[in-house]
Amino acid sequence: MKEVRVRYAPSPTGDPHIGNIRSAIFNWLFAKNKKGKFLIRIEDTDQARLVENGIQKQKDSLKWFGLDWDEIYIQSERLKIYSKYAQQLLEDGSAYRCFATQEELDKLREKQKKSGRITRYDSRYRNYDPKLSKERSKAEPYVIRFKSPQKGITKCLDNIRGEIKFNNKEMDDFIIIKSDGYPTYHFANVIDDYLMNISHVMRAEEWLPSFPKHVNIYNSLNWEMPIFVHLPMILAPDKTKLSKRHGATSVEEFKQAGYLNSAMFNFLVLLGWALDDKTEFFTVEELIKVFDINKISKSPAIFNKEKLDWFNGRYILNSKYDDFAKEINNYFKQFLDIKKYKAIQNYNINDISIMIKERCKTLNDAIMLTEFLYQKPKFKSKYEIQIMCDNPEQCQTILTSSIESLNDIQEFTIENIESILKSLMTKLKVKPKNLLGTLRIIITNQKISPPIFNCLYILGKKESIKRIQFAIDYL
Ligand code: GLU
Repeated sequence: MKEVRVRYAPSPTGDPHIGNIRSAIFNWLFAKNKKGKFLIRIEDTDQARLVENGIQKQKDSLKWFGLDWDEIYIQSERLKIYSKYAQQLLEDGSAYRCFATQEELDKLREKQKKSGRITRYDSRYRNYDPKLSKERSKAEPYVIRFKSPQKGITKCLDNIRGEIKFNNKEMDDFIIIKSDGYPTYHFANVIDDYLMNISHVMRAEEWLPSFPKHVNIYNSLNWEMPIFVHLPMILAPDKTKLSKRHGATSVEEFKQAGYLNSAMFNFLVLLGWALDDKTEFFTVEELIKVFDINKISKSPAIFNKEKLDWFNGRYILNSKYDDFAKEINNYFKQFLDIKKYKAIQNYNINDISIMIKERCKTLNDAIMLTEFLYQKPKFKSKYEIQIMCDNPEQCQTILTSSIESLNDIQEFTIENIESILKSLMTKLKVKPKNLLGTLRIIITNQKISPPIFNCLYILGKKESIKRIQFAIDYL
């Protein structure tokens, strides 16, 4: 069998969309499974849509998911190649120059619209005299158009859908080289897939309508075609195409919202692919072993945000404490402001991991759960401090005796803190809500926080006592 060579071909026109990354993941897994090659091809021929750092953004997203590549190409550096093949098609009559101005084309559109016809180019230069065409090309701007077949059908073979037939009557003479000399997506894409020896083209279903264009270019160049696999659409739960109005869609947004790359990887693989009807959790190594393109589904995949949250929570829960420590540290480094990040560095990140891991669904939760480390409690009224107690006197007693108890601890460990505070509760005959609830408020200023014993432990004896004293002074 021919060596497997697949590619991810992003256009650097914005923050990578998770739909694109899903394509990258499928291609990468397939390459790894077949011990083939995974290429990146930056399709930057639409100069008007490029964004700053577009290529870097693509690379960063791939790296975040651990998708390494064997070769990388940039289409804007290959213009001569496309031009050479366009010349070849011009010479053998498979393409022609079109000199229609924008104004002319606008008029044509208007006319077609008015008479209720489909708006499209009317092939007005298709039979233009080649000599005249060459002459005019020296002085006038033009585009090169492909001579699409006007009769019959174009048969396109998709690995999942089988043979798809397109009626040639519906095809127009599309542009292959624009007036700025850049190729269009359709043309550069085909030329490159062929020259780069791509064995399988796996790309989003959105490209299915363009499929016959590509097949016709292959046919006119007499080139053997790769195997095509159009990956199912990703829809939102309301069955419309997943877009901004459904929430986060770019890799960067998910990263910022605190999703783990491992959880997202696993979740994205299941959008349009399944090993069977029950297995959901896979490591990357397992996926490399079992990934099979014949199991890619034809029907659209639904992007279920609740499921992603659940997945992420499970990944966090099952992670090792020291791995989670690294994750949160990285996350804090990127998304906390520098002052807060520095303040967090005063604490042991592994202790933080132990304190919060079970309570985090996303890494973003870690920010909220650790805020108390660098934000000293502020009170608006005495009532805030006393709220968990049965009466103000009880609150006063709890606070003063907590200081004494904590002071008595020789070795300030979580276990010792827990045991001394529990005996204090018995001694004072107060409920956990009264004592632990009050401490929670004055230590963390939050009703929900990590376990209070861990909070006290991480803050340390001195700071814990200082915060209790601060509350006493406030009363
Ligand atoms: N540049 C196209 C895109 O960003 C690539 C489609 C393909 O893989 O052929 O979707």
